[in-house]
Amino acid sequence: MYVYGPVPSRRLGRSLGVSPIPPKTCSYACVYCQLGRTTRLQTTRESFYPKNDILTEIVKQVQHEKPDFITFVGDGEPTLCKDLGWLIRQTKNRLHIPTAVITNGSLLFSEDVRQDLNEADVVIPTLDAGNEKTFRAINRPHRNITFETMLKGLIDFRNEYSGQIWIEVMLVKELNDITEELQSIMHAIDMISPNRVYILTPIRPPAESWVRPLEPERILKAQEIIGKAIPVAGLESGQFGLGEFSDARQAILEIGSRHPLRREQADDIENNFSEIGVIIQMLENKELICVKYKGEEYLLPEHFRMGI
Ligand code: SF4
Repeated sequence: MYVYGPVPSRRLGRSLGVSPIPPKTCSYACVYCQLGRTTRLQTTRESFYPKNDILTEIVKQVQHEKPDFITFVGDGEPTLCKDLGWLIRQTKNRLHIPTAVITNGSLLFSEDVRQDLNEADVVIPTLDAGNEKTFRAINRPHRNITFETMLKGLIDFRNEYSGQIWIEVMLVKELNDITEELQSIMHAIDMISPNRVYILTPIRPPAESWVRPLEPERILKAQEIIGKAIPVAGLESGQFGLGEFSDARQAILEIGSRHPLRREQADDIENNFSEIGVIIQMLENKELICVKYKGEEYLLPEHFRMGI
C-alpha cells in the first residue's frame, strides 16, 4: 500500500500520507529517525513503483474521507521518487486538495527535484545543522551530499518557488542545541528565508538509543535564538482514517510502519474493529515490539531496525 490515513498531523490537520518509495530508502540516516535505521542509503532517483498504481490508490482513498492535505512523505526521502512531480500534478488536477511534501531537502541541488517540488503547495524541508560537522553527526548523509550542496539547493529552491516553505529543525540534546550551533542554524535559515520555522525534538522512539530530547526550557531558549521559530510541542491527537483496512492487524502494521503508534492509538484501532485481544496476540507472535520513550509506550512493527 502506498497511501495511509488520513492521520492527524500537528501542522497539516488531517493529512493523507503517500509513500512512493520502499521502506527506509533515504539519502540520510538521521540519528533521531522515528522509522528506524536507514537500510537503503542512496541519492539516485528511481521509479520504484508504477506511478498509475500510486495515483489510483490516492484517488480511491480520498473517496473514504477528504483530507486537509495530501502529503508526500515516504518511509524515507520522497524526492528519491522520479515520478514525484507527475504524482503531485495529477493529484492536484483530479482532486483539488492542497499538497505538501515533507523532505530532508538534500536533493534540491538537482534541478529536476526543484522542478518536481515546484508543483506542491507546501514544502517542509529539514535543517538540523548550520555546519558540516554537525550535519554529518546528526543527519549522517550519503557521501555525495555535503552541507554546502544541501544549503545551496534550499536557497536556489527558495529563489524559484512561490509556495510555502516551512523549515523543520529537529533539536537533539547535546548534539545541536548549544548556543553556537543554534546561531549557525539561524544563519542558514536567514539565507533561505522560509515562510515558517518549526522547532521539534524527538517525541517518538529514535533510531539510536542515546538520542535525547530537549527539556521544554531548552526549547524556549532555542526559540529565542532562532527567532521566529514555532515550537511544535506535544503529541498529535485525533483519529486515524481506517477506511482502506479490512482488519485491526493490517491497520496497526500499515499505519505503524509510517507513523509509530502510541499504545492508546493502537488500542483505539483495535476497538474500532471490535477485535479485542489482537494487539496482545501480535506482541506474542513478535509482529509488534513494545518500546518505551519519554514515558510513552509505543508499538512498532518488528522490522524496525532500532539501536535500542
Ligand atoms: S528522519 Fe527523514 S531524512 Fe532522516 S533518516 Fe529518517 S526518513 Fe531519512
